[in-house]
Parts: sequence; structure tokens; C-alpha cells
Amino acid sequence: MKPKTKIQIAVSRASKLLPGLSKEQIQYACDDFFIKKAYCTKNAGFCLECGEDIDVSQIVRKRVTCENCGEKLRIVQTRKRKDFDGNYYFAVAQLMHYDNYDFQVVRVFQFIKFFRKGFKHDLRIHEVTQNWYEASGKHVIYSCLINGFNGSYCLGEMEIRNYGNRGWYTKNYDITPDLYCFKSQFRPEYLQKGISHKLRYMTLNGAINKVVESKAETLMKAGYYEILANWNYASIYNFWPALKICMRNKYKIKDPSIYLDLLKALQYLNKDIHNSHFVCPKNMRAAHDFYIDKVDKIKYGKELANHLKKADKENPKFIKQKSNFFGLELQKGRIKISPLRSVYEFLNEGEVLKHCVFKGEYYNRKYSLILSARINNKPVETIEISLRDYKISQAYGYKNKPSKHHNQIVSLVDNNMDKIRKIASS
Ligand SMILES: [Zn+2]
Repeated sequence: MKPKTKIQIAVSRASKLLPGLSKEQIQYACDDFFIKKAYCTKNAGFCLECGEDIDVSQIVRKRVTCENCGEKLRIVQTRKRKDFDGNYYFAVAQLMHYDNYDFQVVRVFQFIKFFRKGFKHDLRIHEVTQNWYEASGKHVIYSCLINGFNGSYCLGEMEIRNYGNRGWYTKNYDITPDLYCFKSQFRPEYLQKGISHKLRYMTLNGAINKVVESKAETLMKAGYYEILANWNYASIYNFWPALKICMRNKYKIKDPSIYLDLLKALQYLNKDIHNSHFVCPKNMRAAHDFYIDKVDKIKYGKELANHLKKADKENPKFIKQKSNFFGLELQKGRIKISPLRSVYEFLNEGEVLKHCVFKGEYYNRKYSLILSARINNKPVETIEISLRDYKISQAYGYKNKPSKHHNQIVSLVDNNMDKIRKIASS
């Protein structure tokens, strides 16, 4: 779009005065975004940085130093000979006075690295968007054409653009950066609210919208960007006492969603979430796994108790209905097939094979006979036979998938259908 208004003309001129990224800035971004790697098979490998072969006998604990370029590399086991890593977004925020306007500009650069065996890596950096916020509140977009989620398609030249609706999505030129440049400048009123170059996973606009809330401002000032970007306000409110303790202890939260799960588990277990012993564990992952496991066991225990209660209630009726089949036994080779003989056996069968023969109350089906095919007394597949037409209605193994013995099981049952018919009519 051609610049039309006075401010649009100012932006399109001012944008031409902005410098390219310096070597230092590019290095800073690359160090944050990219891990240096070697792709290896058992016998050979190459350095993704310079493309040269590496000596696989020199690999120690999945690491190696490239003899050609000297980079320390992490080993990835793969046969791939080419690949890419990206898109990462690097933001540079700066203040600019131009033509009587006071601008806060946020520029976003897309970083992608291409790799190919035998060639030096190819780093491509592409400026994709600039958001110009004027002191009076006016906002001008100078950008490539961006389609798709968070800049996944950036096309065309940088020019003045409009927000707009096209089809079912809103065009969004406000890409969320992965990292802000260490030299970024922000308006003093933003700095006061805790918005700085340390900001992560948030657009400037997103950050400004968040800090209108006082708890969010406190988190922003303490540098808890991951929490702000990841948690909703309800979680922030719910776990505010825990977050306050984290801030007091300068506790670092790298993985906000796992940390939220940990707090929820602690709350479920009635642990004191005002106590740093619980909310600031030294090894967060280990604490998470430990307490989640505890919660699972309690939930599982409760569920099992309920199931057993149900089985107690339902079992007499089931036995009365189906006990005439209990003598049935089919065998071929290692496979033994016999009916489930109690509701407790339905419960066990469903647990072992992770399907819903118990939860779906198959023991209550008057015109169904449920058989269990076993090897060494371990359930392999469960078979439902219709007592109306003496056909197999379904036969499934682990997680409702046919087992590798499926065909044998089905033919063994089919070949003995007469036996079942006889028992039913006796
Ligand atoms: Zn190398």
C-alpha cells in the first residue's frame, strides 16, 4: 500500500534510516536460537556448521569437536544429509524522533539456518515487520505481507500495511519474538512497568496490555516473562502466594506449564503452598514427577475402589446370566480362549488391555458373550460374540487394536461357534 497519510509518509521515510543488524547482534541471536550439531550414523557423520566430515571415533557422551571448524557439536543420530532450523524471531526495539513524531519502533527479523553435507551452513536473516507506535497513540505497520500463524508465511516487500480480515483469520503483523536485542530501547513509562530487553515470548503490545494488571506488573518487574506469557490470570491469582515466594527467593521457573502442574498437584495433596520447601524445589522436574505420581495413585485408588464397589453389586446378576458358559475352553497351540467368569475379571481385562470392556459394562449385555484369549494366562485379545446370530461382534487387543494373533484367535472362535450355540440352547 502506498503511504497516504502524513504519519505513514513519515514512517516509510524513517524506516529507510534504520540500520541493518550488526555482527554482534546477529551473534547474540544465533547463540540463543541455534544449537550446533553434527548429524551422525554409526559409522559416519558431518558437521552442520561447516559441512565437513567428523571422526565418529572422537565422540564422547554425544558430543564432539569439529576438526575442521573447531565448533563444539552435539550429536544427533540421523541419516539426514540436509536440514534447516528456524523460524526464530529476533526483535529490536528502539526510539526514534522523526519529523515531529516520537516513535517507539519494534522491528522483527526472521532467522533460519539451512544445512547440507559438504557445504557451510547458510544463515538467512529477513526483516519481516516493523510496528511503529507514535506517542499520541497512532500505530503504523510497515511490513512484509504476513499470512499464517505468527509469521509462518512472510511474503513480498516491506511496505505500509493494514490490519484486516480476510476469510476466517485476522491478519496479524504483531509477531511474537523469541528474543529481544540486548540494546533495545523502550519508552521510560514502559521501563517503569518492568518492560525491558529481557522480555520474552511477548510482543510489546501484549506486554503493555498485561501490565495494566498490578500482579502482572509485579511479575514483569521480577522478570517472570515465561509465567506471564503462559499462565492465564486465573492461575496467577490462584497461585499468587506461591509466586510471591518464588519472587522472594529469586526462584527461576524455566518451564511454566510443568511448574503449574506441580502447583496444582501440591494443592490437590493439601501441601502448604506458602512454604518454599514445596514451591521452590531444587529439582523442579523431579518434584513434579514425584507429586504428580502421588496424585495419580490417589486418583487411581479412588477409581479402583469405585469400580470394585460396582463389581460387587453387578457380579451376582452376571453369574446368574452367564454361568452356563463358564465350562467353555478353546485351545490351539499356546492360545487359550475362555469366557470372562466374573465382573472382577472384566475389570482386570480392561485394566490389562486398556480398553472399555468393564467401563462399557459389557457384563450387562444380555445377548453378548465375552471371551478372553490368553497366552500364558495373560490377556491378548477380548472377543465379543453375539448370542443372537452367533457371530463375532468385535475382537480387540491392547488399546482396541488387533493383536498379532488376531487371525488365529478369530478362526479358533469361528470354528467352535457350534459349541457356543449348543451351550446357549441347552
Ligand atoms: Zn565444522
